Amino acid sequence: MTFAQACPRCGEEFAGDDRDSVADQVVAHATDDHGHALDRDIVLAHLDGRHPHD
Ligand SMILES: [Zn+2]
Repeated sequence: MTFAQACPRCGEEFAGDDRDSVADQVVAHATDDHGHALDRDIVLAHLDGRHPHD
C-alpha cells in the first residue's frame, strides 16, 4: 500500500509505503517551506481516510 498526502498550502504531494514517514515528511515540509505548524494527528487522520493508491 502506498500512502500519499498533499501539502495543504502548495499541493506538493508526498508519498511512501510508511504512513508515519509520509506524515513526518508533510509536517517537516510545511514547517520548513511555509513556516506552518501542521498538526501531525490531522495528517495521520487524512492518511487513514484516504488511500488513493490502495
Ligand atoms: Zn507546501
